[in-house]
Amino acid sequence: MDDSREAALALDAADPLAGCRDLVTYADDVIYLDGNSLGRRPVSTPGALEDLVERQWARDLIRSWPAWLADATATADLLGEAVLGVAPGQVAISDSTTVNLYKLAVAAVRARPGRSRVVIEADAFPTDLYVIDGVARDHGLEVTRVEADIDDGVRATDLAAVLDDDVALVCLSHVGYRSGALLDMVELTRLAHDAGALVLWDLCHSAGSAPTPLAESGADLAVGCTYKYLNAGPGAPAFLYVRADLQAELRSPIQGWFGQRDQFEMAPEYDPVPGIERFLAGTPNVPGIVAVREGVRTIAAAGLPALRDKGVALTSYLVDLADVWLQPLGFRLASPRDPARRGSHVTLEHPQAWQACQAWIAAGVVPDFRTPDRLRIGPAPLTTSFEEVWIALDRLRDIVATGRHLEFPTERARVT
Ligand SMILES: *Cc1c(COP(=O)(O)O)cnc(C)c1O
Repeated sequence: MDDSREAALALDAADPLAGCRDLVTYADDVIYLDGNSLGRRPVSTPGALEDLVERQWARDLIRSWPAWLADATATADLLGEAVLGVAPGQVAISDSTTVNLYKLAVAAVRARPGRSRVVIEADAFPTDLYVIDGVARDHGLEVTRVEADIDDGVRATDLAAVLDDDVALVCLSHVGYRSGALLDMVELTRLAHDAGALVLWDLCHSAGSAPTPLAESGADLAVGCTYKYLNAGPGAPAFLYVRADLQAELRSPIQGWFGQRDQFEMAPEYDPVPGIERFLAGTPNVPGIVAVREGVRTIAAAGLPALRDKGVALTSYLVDLADVWLQPLGFRLASPRDPARRGSHVTLEHPQAWQACQAWIAAGVVPDFRTPDRLRIGPAPLTTSFEEVWIALDRLRDIVATGRHLEFPTERARVT
């Protein structure tokens, strides 16, 4: 490969999404490679929030509710269409990913009575493991954790080995949080369906960076967050997806009034609407939904196919540079090498990864660290340039070649 800076600049010059960099704000010249953890802030978000707070809330007060509720539905449908590729009426924005996962997992296991097991990948994101363990315990079910290579992710043979007609629910992450492995949603969903199980996909690391074949695979359920590639900001509300034909059959375990038919009749008995809104619980977080709307618009402006192409190009470029510059310094690729099997982040293993992470941050590059010994590098397809990847890896190579990272503490921080 050509590892010159000029080659990186040439890739930027040919990048059809280069103009999208202007959709978000850059407060300084830090090279931000953590788009998979907290996306950058859209330029339009402060103005949208100011309008909400200064006009809609301060002046219009309660008269704003009809517009706020209509906006919540429209934003959910836009997220469904532009990010998830699904028809309207199947996505809701609410709560956190953790809570949505709980609601859908409970609804799913109750819809498969008589089955005794729930399946989840052994290397799932911890909150997913905790929620599934809790749901299983409360329903007298057993959990089977699918073992798979932690750098390569779950393959069809791994899942097939644990499926039978006792499985009520299979819970998988479309893109693995540690390795970036992109699972074959179509094939894995088919296997689970063949066993009569429902499938719940966690889309946190794919929504906004890779197409999610929910419609094509016939997946039943999905959840995901909006603060990663969707740029909605820290703690912004999450989304959930329930396939249209399943909605009336599944019930949320949280029987809240925002899922109630004719809500303002104030009826004393719970009678949920037939549609997706039955999975809502309480009053929506309006500032959060405004931020989701602005974030989703940035992704919609670029379009998922172009974002996927850019994501593949960025991570492939990063892997090529790492092979030439970093492998001789003790780094090992801990993500799938085939770009078709990789999301938009790349993980590199190194025995002193935590120290290298701190030294890299001190040198103006923000990645993150993941246990046990990995740097997780998440260029955002919407906003990261090839030159930024070049500069970042050049700095890392310099740090590790000169041993400067060894001056940093080996103890971990509270948030890595
Ligand atoms: C980021 C992430 C979450 C986060 O859940 P929260 O409820 O928003 O804290 C859950 N699952 C996966 C796979 C994630 O990557």
